[in-house]
Amino acid sequence: MSPAVCTALLYAGGVWQDFVLPRSLAIFQSIFRFPVSEPLVTFHTRRPSTTVLVRGVPVGSGHPVVVQSMTNTDTADAAGTADQVAALFEAGSQKVRITVNNDEAAQAVPEIRQRLDDRGLDVPLIGDFHYNGHLLLTKYPACADALDKYRINPGNTGTKHRDTNFTTIVQAAIDHGKPVRIGVNWGSLDQMLLTDMMDANARSAEPREAKDVYMDAMLESALRSAALAEEVGLPHDRIIVSAKISVVQDLVECYRRLAKRCDYPLHLGLTEAGMGNKGVIASTAALSILLSEGIGDTIRVSLTPKPNGDRREEVFVAQQILQSLGLRSFAPQVTACPGCGRTTSTFFQHMAEDIQGYLREQMPVWRETRPGVVDMKVAVMGCVVNGPGESKHANIGISLPGTFEEPKAPVYVDGKLFTTLKGDNIVPEFLDILEKYVTTTYA
Ligand code: SF4
Repeated sequence: MSPAVCTALLYAGGVWQDFVLPRSLAIFQSIFRFPVSEPLVTFHTRRPSTTVLVRGVPVGSGHPVVVQSMTNTDTADAAGTADQVAALFEAGSQKVRITVNNDEAAQAVPEIRQRLDDRGLDVPLIGDFHYNGHLLLTKYPACADALDKYRINPGNTGTKHRDTNFTTIVQAAIDHGKPVRIGVNWGSLDQMLLTDMMDANARSAEPREAKDVYMDAMLESALRSAALAEEVGLPHDRIIVSAKISVVQDLVECYRRLAKRCDYPLHLGLTEAGMGNKGVIASTAALSILLSEGIGDTIRVSLTPKPNGDRREEVFVAQQILQSLGLRSFAPQVTACPGCGRTTSTFFQHMAEDIQGYLREQMPVWRETRPGVVDMKVAVMGCVVNGPGESKHANIGISLPGTFEEPKAPVYVDGKLFTTLKGDNIVPEFLDILEKYVTTTYA
């Protein structure tokens, strides 16, 4: 190659490298608004924490994020509460909390435990105590023994004898070999501590905003209580901490601060998240931000159920948050299109719902017998536009006929056309293919 050609090529390369490429990247970045050299979404590694064992379930950064839930039955109704605990556990809640609010509830706890044991359900039971926990745990040692963890709210252990009551609960945890969660709540913050911190802030040369002080008071309440529990003799690795707020941005900020100040495992949850879409979306928004930053070792989604609604919904939402973030897998995922003018009937919506329900019902058995099935993807699509393509990307998918399309539904298995279904029995026939696929693939 002649020197002139070589020089020309080098020059062209230099122009490409120094001018064309950066400008192309800049244009690309300006269009899509992200640095092209970096992944679109970056998840932080888990914040390091100790591990706390709750009836053998490990909670901490070395272990998967744990899903938990809470009953809404009267704990004094041992049969009803045991039934709901069982339902939540079978839905995938790895720990279940029950309120222990009076003598009758405390007396019922051993029976609840026994009923669960009789059914072979090794579910950790957590007692939620407010105001009288020190009395109940002392008066009913069988209750203290039957529970696997105590939740203490330092803002609700009294005023005059607050620390004494708190340490009595901690002593019960030490005596019975149980861990505790020190759970501070925005709505029941220790008022004496808050007043002291607000007064100190008012006297300072540059007072901070009241909300900022309030947030720090929550952290102080949690961390001082944890330090006091350790002073009394509770081991460091038997303490989980939470600081719940009902506003998404405040919760995120509060947990970011908390995460920097301790290595206790953190229980995440948006308190009083609310009903329906609001509760689901607000919880998802808050928990997703924190979990993507590596903060959070156990989660609860506090949904307000509809009257006679399914309490398991909060478990399914918590699982879906973790599965959508790619942090854990709990159940096969159904990809269903939203439907549009090409689907004039609701047939495919019912079919997607039926399949989702079928998968959910199978999970208690499949969880034990079909390893790997939680990663299965199922597609249920409404027409030929995206149906075959999406179905090919799933393990098993069906593309239903849209309006004016020939009444046939191709089924794809592992990316290949497997069969084409027709007639009135498409749903049972598809479920039959699905069941056989699971049996042979996840043996
Ligand atoms: S796959 Fe078909 S029916 Fe479903 S949303 Fe897309 S175009 Fe509409």
